[in-house]
Amino acid sequence: MGTEELKDKVILVTGGAGFIGSHLCEGLLELGAKVICVDSLLTGKTENFTHLKEKFGEQIKSFKFDVNTERGSIELLFRELKPDYVFHYAAMVGVKKLAEEPLDFFVDMQGIRNIFELSKEFGVKKVVFSSSSEVYGEPINPGDKAGASINIRAHDPYALTKLYGECIAYHYFKQYDLPTCSLRFFNVYGPRQESSDYGFVTGVFIRQVLVGKNPTVFDDGSQTRDFVYVKDNVEAAICALLTDRTNGKTLNIGRGTPTTILDLAQRVIAMSGKDYLKPEFMHGRGIEIKHRNPDVAQMKELLNYELQTNLDEGLKKTFDWYKENVK
Ligand code: UDP
Repeated sequence: MGTEELKDKVILVTGGAGFIGSHLCEGLLELGAKVICVDSLLTGKTENFTHLKEKFGEQIKSFKFDVNTERGSIELLFRELKPDYVFHYAAMVGVKKLAEEPLDFFVDMQGIRNIFELSKEFGVKKVVFSSSSEVYGEPINPGDKAGASINIRAHDPYALTKLYGECIAYHYFKQYDLPTCSLRFFNVYGPRQESSDYGFVTGVFIRQVLVGKNPTVFDDGSQTRDFVYVKDNVEAAICALLTDRTNGKTLNIGRGTPTTILDLAQRVIAMSGKDYLKPEFMHGRGIEIKHRNPDVAQMKELLNYELQTNLDEGLKKTFDWYKENVK
């Protein structure tokens, strides 16, 4: 199916006021879809989609409630607005947050239950579930490509919600013929990302450098991540929705090009032109994943798509946005 399939389709985006969710809403609106954004606004923000309301008017509807805990509200929404497609992106944000409140695991699982049960009941055409590279845990060998071998080592509550969510998505496809797919997002960055104590290193470094502080590199900075510009992440997710080849599948969404955190810090400094700044090494977070290096062969094959934005291009767009918008 081409993107014209989405014109006038009703698409529910849970977590649509979050960083990735709001970019997804924008991508769908640009393709002519009617978007329903549901968000509890616990971590999502109305500022993330007010510009979309101004630009797209009635084409986007937004509702403030929690899909995890407010079953009656989400059921009513399915009944009355009859979404054609669903992107389930609402979740407790981040590893650290769920590590602090491990039993919130069950809250996210309840949301997964609500979305899959209702999607089945109301005949949704496909559900896309946002998973995470966290499910891989620490690779057995530093060079291991996430996805190339059986190396799932989920060890924290956040990773487990994502892993169980993937299992549920798969079983709904197998048992009930509900088309589903799960996307394991690698480190997404871009405009509107809320960098905080919970991480998101790109925004952390850009903010620091903008106010003339040295970027804080944990440990020796040799840890690696695969950084994905948010617009590419959205394009990949839309491709995943549109092809039946992803039904019942779980895919890595990454560039397949790892970057060390030290390199990232140096790129951000170079971009700022503030060559008096230097990476500031400090003790890290204790437990952390050292390397994350995705195998993206399956993504390229099933989606017939490669991520378009190289790191410097994406960083520049992000840097310019922070400069303009974050005081
Ligand atoms: N990181 C860092 N300095 C910071 C924040 C993060 O060096 O101020 C590192 C962190 O140790 C990790 C990487 O950046 O290796 C990515 O961290 P983030 O929280 O963005 O994502 P995640 O660890 O969940 O991949």
